[in-house]
Amino acid sequence: MNGTVTNWAGNITYAAKELHRPGSLDALRALVAGSDRVRVLGSGHSFNAIAEPGAEGVLLSLADLPAQVDVDTVARTVRVGGGVRYAELARRVHAHGLALPNMASLPHISVAGSVATGTHGSGVLNGPLAAPVREVELVTADGSTVRIGRDEERFGGAVTSLGALGVVTALTLDLEPAYEVEQHLFTELPLEGLDSGVFETVMATAYSVSLFTDWRAPGFRQVWLKRRTDQPLPAFPWAAPATEKLHPVPGMPAVNCTEQFGVAGPWHERLPHFRAEFTPSSGEELQSEYLLPRGHAVEMLHALDALRDTVAPVLQTCEVRTVAADDQWLSPSYGRDTVAAHFTWVADTRAVLPVVRRVEEALAPLSARPHWGKVFTLPASALGALYPRLDDFRSLARELDPRGTFANAFVRDVLAGA
Ligand SMILES: Cc1cc2nc3c(=O)[nH]c(=O)nc-3n(C[C@H](O)[C@H](O)[C@H](O)COP(=O)(O)OP(=O)(O)OC[C@H]3O[C@@H](n4cnc5c(N)ncnc54)[C@H](O)[C@@H]3O)c2cc1C
Repeated sequence: MNGTVTNWAGNITYAAKELHRPGSLDALRALVAGSDRVRVLGSGHSFNAIAEPGAEGVLLSLADLPAQVDVDTVARTVRVGGGVRYAELARRVHAHGLALPNMASLPHISVAGSVATGTHGSGVLNGPLAAPVREVELVTADGSTVRIGRDEERFGGAVTSLGALGVVTALTLDLEPAYEVEQHLFTELPLEGLDSGVFETVMATAYSVSLFTDWRAPGFRQVWLKRRTDQPLPAFPWAAPATEKLHPVPGMPAVNCTEQFGVAGPWHERLPHFRAEFTPSSGEELQSEYLLPRGHAVEMLHALDALRDTVAPVLQTCEVRTVAADDQWLSPSYGRDTVAAHFTWVADTRAVLPVVRRVEEALAPLSARPHWGKVFTLPASALGALYPRLDDFRSLARELDPRGTFANAFVRDVLAGA
């Protein structure tokens, strides 16, 4: 490769023999069929080597393929190309009076890359971003196209697939009528106030709820409620209404955040925390996230509170969200209603990794699954035990990719899990 390619955070420089940006599907098919090792790079917002093909492999970007977004207003579906990002998808879908059920904190991430890693937003009834996907189109190692629809048994492995099955060239997603959302922010939610069932009640007060803390003191500094205007306005007696606009990282200006103070707006301009118009080219941060059965939420919060002195010095912000159970075999919310603890760390791998290990040790007894796209240190043996359908995924990978063209070191590790 001429020059280096890094992820958004700059902590990973991808080892690869070549970087290709095919301009047509035919060129992509020929390239894949003629290569021994291929990985697709989405928008590069993962914080680990999940997208890396290895020194002898081909890194493939779909950025030069036509940005296809075909909305079917009668069927209420959209067929979206493998390189398209959520900001573009949302804008085009909204123009037809339609909507997605949820979005992540940032709209700049690619759709295919996000659903491949189990990316999610928040909401006790909202599944991860993969939940509305009804069909996946893949170019497999021999260059042929395979379509896998929701009615097939193997669909369970086809969406949250870590990029291990082939190049996702298109996804079809279910849509719903467009809706409006307001953001209401509160400050200072004490930790002890969340015991005895209150956590569940707090997280269910609105369509999407996030709690933020820097763990410098017990409890949460901020609560973000995202209320659909077609749902009731909740009372929120547990914390005080915010008196100024806030950024999730204390002290950062809120100018890049989506509109707050209860101003109603389109779903795609309120569900993400950050505005689509604000495009950071790189981030001074690392991220980790752990997804646990929701019944363990209060135990998780107390386990993290006990680590405050370890965590706080390398933490920018910690966000607690909920995700509804889904049925993708490798989804971190597979088969269980979930609570997720996300960490935005400082951009210092050496200082952060020992803390990540401490967090993992504390959360391991609570069956914590790491986010596939973020920094974690759990070994393959521990990962295998967390995913009851891993064997089924192995079989699907053998069926669609018998020569292991799409199996990089990251994927081989996961597939080796006991
Ligand atoms: C600032 C920031 C905010 C974030 N917010 C959230 C959040 O709110 N919730 C959350 O859950 N996560 C969040 N993440 C994590 C992020 O959503 C995931 O890392 C996601 O995978 C990013 O998508 P991407 O396209 O950048 O993936 P990449 O890192 O480019 O790739 C991820 C994986 O997908 C594969 N892939 C990508 N495209 C294709 C394709 N077309 N075909 C086959 N395989 C493909 C890659 O090979 C790789 O295995 C955030 C990350 C950042 C940097």
